[in-house]
Amino acid sequence: MTKKAKTRTLSAYQAKRNFQKTPEPSGSGRPKRAPSSIKPGKGFFCVQKHLASHLHYDFRLEHDGVLLSWAVPKGPSLNPRDKRLAMRVEDHPLDYGDFEGVIPEGYGAGIVMLWDRGSWSPETTDVSRALADGELKFSLAATKLKGSWVLVRTGNSGEESKGGEPRTWLLIKHKDDCAGPIDVTTAAPLSVKSFGDFADILAADKPDLWQSNKPAKGGVAGEMLTNIIEQAAKLKAGKRPVRKLKKR
Ligand code: MN
Repeated sequence: MTKKAKTRTLSAYQAKRNFQKTPEPSGSGRPKRAPSSIKPGKGFFCVQKHLASHLHYDFRLEHDGVLLSWAVPKGPSLNPRDKRLAMRVEDHPLDYGDFEGVIPEGYGAGIVMLWDRGSWSPETTDVSRALADGELKFSLAATKLKGSWVLVRTGNSGEESKGGEPRTWLLIKHKDDCAGPIDVTTAAPLSVKSFGDFADILAADKPDLWQSNKPAKGGVAGEMLTNIIEQAAKLKAGKRPVRKLKKR
């Protein structure tokens, strides 16, 4: 039996969360297969739209039994001119790739929507090397995001991860047939799992959860959350037709 030179662990992921209080997968035990059926030679890919203290898009690529993760505040752009800030965050368990729901309290408290999913293929033979070098080229075959992309680490940030490497990367679309001036986060805002919006996801859980002590208090995220809580309560009370939440 050969052992991988570098084993990725989920200890940072697990240390931040109390699994008695969050519905997120614990990642304990053996790494589970990524949830979607992925063709051999390709990895699982997903983006989770996450309204927590701030709205962001969590961009995840399967590698070495975990989901490599970057938090992208503005979300991905199909326009090659846009360089979207992407903060490298802790590796997530593979079964996180199917997660959508409400995190009632604690780390990341808020609403998680499975915004896109599919597969990815590296445009390099050695992904670990590309990560270490700070430039990973890859192509995506998902519902919303397709074609060729690159994640480039920037050396300018003072903020560093525990490994000592700068956490700041840029997510950029390469010029190809899948690039264009469409604002994909606005044009395609809904879940690829339940086909709902944030209010639908909250309504399916506990819409009155954050009547007091909201996870996002002020600013844009706080205002969004206030509206979502109101909408979810109306949905639950039957004052607006509930968008059918389908399981895939
Ligand atoms: Mn997040």
